[in-house]
Amino acid sequence: MGIPHLLLIPYPTVGHVNPLMHLSHALAKHGCNITFLNTEFNHKHAHAADAAVGSQIKFLTLPDGLGPQDDRRDNRKLIFSIKTHMPPLLTKLIHDINALDVHNNITCIIVTVNMGWALEVGYNLGIKGSLLWPASATSLATCDCMPRLVDDGIIDSDGNPTKKQQIKVSPNIPMIDTANFPWCGLGEVLFHHIMQEMQTLRLGEWWLCNTTYHLEPAAFSISPRFLPIGPLMASDNNIISLWQEDTTCLEWLDKQPHQSVLYVAFGSSPLIDHNQFKELALALDFLNRPFLWGIHPRNDNKLNNACAYPDGSKGKIVGWAPQKKVLNHPAIVCFITHCGWNSTIEGVCGGVPFLCWPFLKDQFVNKSYICDVWKVGLGLDKDENGLILKEEIKNKVEQLLGDEDIKARSQKLKELTLKNIAKDGHSTKNLERFIDWAK
Ligand code: UDP
Repeated sequence: MGIPHLLLIPYPTVGHVNPLMHLSHALAKHGCNITFLNTEFNHKHAHAADAAVGSQIKFLTLPDGLGPQDDRRDNRKLIFSIKTHMPPLLTKLIHDINALDVHNNITCIIVTVNMGWALEVGYNLGIKGSLLWPASATSLATCDCMPRLVDDGIIDSDGNPTKKQQIKVSPNIPMIDTANFPWCGLGEVLFHHIMQEMQTLRLGEWWLCNTTYHLEPAAFSISPRFLPIGPLMASDNNIISLWQEDTTCLEWLDKQPHQSVLYVAFGSSPLIDHNQFKELALALDFLNRPFLWGIHPRNDNKLNNACAYPDGSKGKIVGWAPQKKVLNHPAIVCFITHCGWNSTIEGVCGGVPFLCWPFLKDQFVNKSYICDVWKVGLGLDKDENGLILKEEIKNKVEQLLGDEDIKARSQKLKELTLKNIAKDGHSTKNLERFIDWAK
């Protein structure tokens, strides 16, 4: 058997590019040849953070079909442009790669969700494929159940919940509010896209998940395709980053006492409105302890405002933090997070207690895992106007920091989770099984 040559194609947003880059890293370490395909737009804006790893991985680009002025935050526009423009370009690219070296032909394609069309391209060329799902296995299980949910009348044929209720897609999986299904709020066009996408993704033999059996045991009963290979963070670095990381915060963290700093970050989407922003800023001020607050670079106006808010001598505000390094820094005592899946896994691997502030969709289920299943964090409650008040934030932080059981469970969960990627760990074995298959 030869060396497998895998072509990895992420949907071009940070929550997809990062985990797929980490998978590239893991596969390259196991001796695979990797070609990583980015959109031209993303490649231009990516910052290489780890040249050593980059040299083992070949980067190629294709245009996404949008113009320079188009708004790539508009997922509908981006998805349909990609699906229309990229398939013929990818077919040609694979022919060109294969013609270059007959001993190093592409043996397998790995995509993230929304890029199922690339599995079809591969299928037509006789190349097998797989999916890397960038969120929890539970959210994948939910999407996999979409036709059943329509048949059972839980959602209508356009994806809207028929009534307000909480359901379990499988026994032992936390309850999901039907309003928080992954497709809710996206509109019927994207609902039908996801329905079709889930079918297309069946061309992928494996649905790799950045998780472990013990984190979400019940999700794996849904389908034999699911293969946990997480946590995908063998290195602390994001190998490439779509935003310039502000590493000055690491030097600042070095100067803070152990277990003293609150880390606040809500991922890559601007999620917080002006009033809520103000409550958070005032709470950080009240708490009177060091904090590191990542405010997304897209939130420039809030970033400027923030500098005027909590007393700058106590905290540090950055645009884009090197999050994995931050979460592994001994100065960090708690993570105030929106509970995106990547942030959730990274927090688990850092062994830090969570203060959960979910905003939408799967973030609520991730919060249930954190607070109710793993018991390594607390949730924030809204007042009758839907606002999380400064007093609530302050009280919950204090409660969390005083809870020795949560701290102990966070450390234990970290150890259990990291065991999966040690030699002979479950995820390591699954990855080896996958590589054998890719050969
Ligand atoms: N991230 C980062 N610096 C920041 C904020 C976020 O590097 O200041 C990274 C974080 O490490 C994670 C990703 O951005 O890998 C966010 O993914 P997640 O699934 O948590 O949330 P999303 O952005 O998809 O809502």
